Amino acid sequence: MNEAAAPPDRCPRCGGAFVCGIGQPGPCACSTLTLSPALQARLRQDYSGCLCLACLRGLAAAEVVAAKGPG
Ligand SMILES: [Zn+2]
Repeated sequence: MNEAAAPPDRCPRCGGAFVCGIGQPGPCACSTLTLSPALQARLRQDYSGCLCLACLRGLAAAEVVAAKGPG
């Protein structure tokens, strides 16, 4: 093994590369988002790893809309 640094994660949802903060000294970017326990559980069920920030943002926004209902 000759890996100098951990390769960027690949978002299982959109396939885009991103860096999860789990291996970083700072907090993960996803910690800046407010994900409901239900959404987090669903993500764990559907995906094996972290998603990129864009997807997390989109999912969180979609869930807020769904929770509020139309209008
Ligand atoms: Zn993504």
